[in-house]
Amino acid sequence: MVILLKNIKKYLNKVVTLRGWIFNIRSSGSIYFCQFRDGTGEIQAIVSKKDVDEETWQLTKKLTLESSCEITGKVYQEKRSPSGYEMLVKKLKVFQIALKYPIGKKSHGVDFLMDHRHLWIRSRRQQAILKIRDEVIFSIREFMRKNDFVLTDTPILTPTPCEQVELFKTDYFGEKAYLSQSGQLYLEALIYSLGRVYDFGPVFRAEKSKTRRHLIEFWMMDAEMAFVDHQENMRIQEELVSYLVEKVIKNRKKELEILKRNLEPLKNVKPPFVKITYDQAIDLLKKKGVKIKWGDDFGGDEETILSKSFEKPVFIEKYPAGIKAFYMKPDPENQKYVLNDDLLAPEGYGEIIGGSERIDDLNTLEEKIKEFKLPKEEYQWYLDLRRYGSVPHSGFGLGLERTVAWLCGLEHIRETIPFPRLINRLRP
Ligand code: ATP
Ligand code: MG
Repeated sequence: MVILLKNIKKYLNKVVTLRGWIFNIRSSGSIYFCQFRDGTGEIQAIVSKKDVDEETWQLTKKLTLESSCEITGKVYQEKRSPSGYEMLVKKLKVFQIALKYPIGKKSHGVDFLMDHRHLWIRSRRQQAILKIRDEVIFSIREFMRKNDFVLTDTPILTPTPCEQVELFKTDYFGEKAYLSQSGQLYLEALIYSLGRVYDFGPVFRAEKSKTRRHLIEFWMMDAEMAFVDHQENMRIQEELVSYLVEKVIKNRKKELEILKRNLEPLKNVKPPFVKITYDQAIDLLKKKGVKIKWGDDFGGDEETILSKSFEKPVFIEKYPAGIKAFYMKPDPENQKYVLNDDLLAPEGYGEIIGGSERIDDLNTLEEKIKEFKLPKEEYQWYLDLRRYGSVPHSGFGLGLERTVAWLCGLEHIRETIPFPRLINRLRP
């Protein structure tokens, strides 16, 4: 019977068949020790000359790293083997004997590994990261459904930019079109139909800067909610992030261990998070010797410092209106500021969410569109939302890869997506 390694406990001391790949191989002459994986788990497969027929033995001698095969034999628990289980192989069927595998045990440079990303993703570390990515996606969907959000989809090809900068332009049958940077504006339309909505898909930004936090193509979860103000918006973000952390710690123990992730800081991630205003953040940075003045936006370096200043995620709220997007609602207490928040993950990771309450008044929005010199005709449909049953509403966008990098404790965002697109990399 062909089984998956994740179910091995049910088949101890029985003869079963496994299909997968050899990722490590060592021989002591008459015995071969093969580390074998099938995508759901690992096992040490032992082929002993005295226990197999001649044909199987000859085939075993040909096995190489990453050869694909089917092995049949009795499986049992073995504390001393790396995975805790072993199979004494009786029969071996080979799908393909792999050519000399380019990725070896010695450490390779990042460029080499990135050039071989299609192979690198097989490594134990990359498997762990990708499984945590899956866990985060799944937990987000679960949280959203439990909290009455409807999953909906927004277009990738758009005639109007959402964030204005770092756009990818393309030709749409002779017309200019842009790849979506966020589905937010469309989601705002959908709240009038569905109340609370979210989308979750790839977005594109022609980021010219080379940083450890920026991808060109990344996955964003945008949420938008009717009748939710700035404070409630932050409360929902805080609950969502706490939920994700809890699920990853609970369901991906083994993967976090493979990544040697220190769990202590993650265990602190519980509501309430820290809240400071933009002005307080500026003061804090100045105190730490950073050269910055009111009205400057925070870059990666500033975010690292701010994020390392607290044990928990920190909200930075109420930025100066001039450095934020046109659709953000001015603070009624002081129109110089907007009712927005950036959520910074701790341990130096920096921004994982950007959110705000949106302008719901037609005149204010028309003024802003003028002030930001946006083409008014293109935004008529968006202005309609303020003409027909406008309500107070808020939303936020969570970057999947930034979140995964933080939860996994990674140095760089490039490992959080199977095939990263970076300023200098479109391949493989
Ligand atoms: P930053 O200032 O770091 O460039 P941003 O202010 O441009 O971020 P938003 O427009 O608010 O980010 O996007 C929402 C979220 O999307 C961010 O909080 C972040 O998690 C994620 N994000 C933004 N740009 C990128 C990128 N280039 N690569 C990966 N994730 C990103
Ligand atoms: Mg940006």
